[in-house]
Amino acid sequence: MSIDQKIVQILHKVNALAAMRENRFSDLPDVRVLAVTKNQSTMAIRTALAAGITAVAENRVQEAVQKYADIGEMAEWHFIGHLQTNKARLIVPFCHLIHSLDSKSLAIEIAKTAAKLNKRQDVLMQINVSGEDTKFGVPPNQAVEMAGFLSSLENIRLCGCMTIAPLCDDIEKTRPVFRELFHLFQEIKSLNFPNTSLEWVSMGMTNDYPVAIEEGANLIRIGTGIFGKRG
Ligand SMILES: *Cc1c(COP(=O)(O)O)cnc(C)c1O
Repeated sequence: MSIDQKIVQILHKVNALAAMRENRFSDLPDVRVLAVTKNQSTMAIRTALAAGITAVAENRVQEAVQKYADIGEMAEWHFIGHLQTNKARLIVPFCHLIHSLDSKSLAIEIAKTAAKLNKRQDVLMQINVSGEDTKFGVPPNQAVEMAGFLSSLENIRLCGCMTIAPLCDDIEKTRPVFRELFHLFQEIKSLNFPNTSLEWVSMGMTNDYPVAIEEGANLIRIGTGIFGKRG
C-alpha cells in the first residue's frame, strides 16, 4: 500500500474510533494524527503532507533541524524525543509543541530560549506511567508538583501530557497505562494552574493507538503505520 493509501485508511479508522467514544471526551479538541517522520526522507514527508497530514513529529534534534530547513512551514513541527538541555535552543525556534518535557532543568532552558525569541513555547509533560527504567518522563507521583513549577515559567505553556506505553504483544495490556495518563491529565487540569491550557493527551503509536483513543488520546503519533518499516 502506498503512503497516501495508508494515510486515508488510518484517518478513516481514527475518525471511526473517535466517533465511538461518544461524548466522553467532548470537552477536548478532536483527535489529531501526527506523522512520525524519523528516518524518513523529505520526499516521503512531502507525500504525507500532500495526502492530508498537517503535522509531523521528530525525535532527534539534528534530523528535525535538517528537515525543517528543507520543508519549513509546510508542516507543523512537533518534537517527541528526549531533549537534552543544551539542545533546547535548536528546537524552540520552529517547534509548535514539545511533547517530551521531563525535567525542571529542561523547562528552564526552553523558557530562556523562548524568552529571547519573544515566544511562549507550548509543551506537554512526558510522564513515565509504566515506570520502565528505559523510559524518560516525570514519575507519576511528581506530575502535579511539576505542573505547578511549569505554570510559574512565563515563557512556557503546559498544554497536556504524553506517555509511551510498553511494547506488548497484547495491546490490551497498554490500557491501564493510557487510563492512568488520562487520569493524571484530568487531575492536573482540575487544579487550574495559571498560565496553562490543558487540552492535549499525546498517547498511542502504530501498534496501540486504537486503545489509546478509547482511553482519551487526542494526539496520536504514527510512524510505521504511515511510512512502513523504518530504513
Ligand atoms: C517512533 C516513535 C513513535 C512512532 O512509532 P511507530 O510504532 O512507528 O508508529 C511514536 N512516539 C515516539 C515517542 C516515537 O519515538
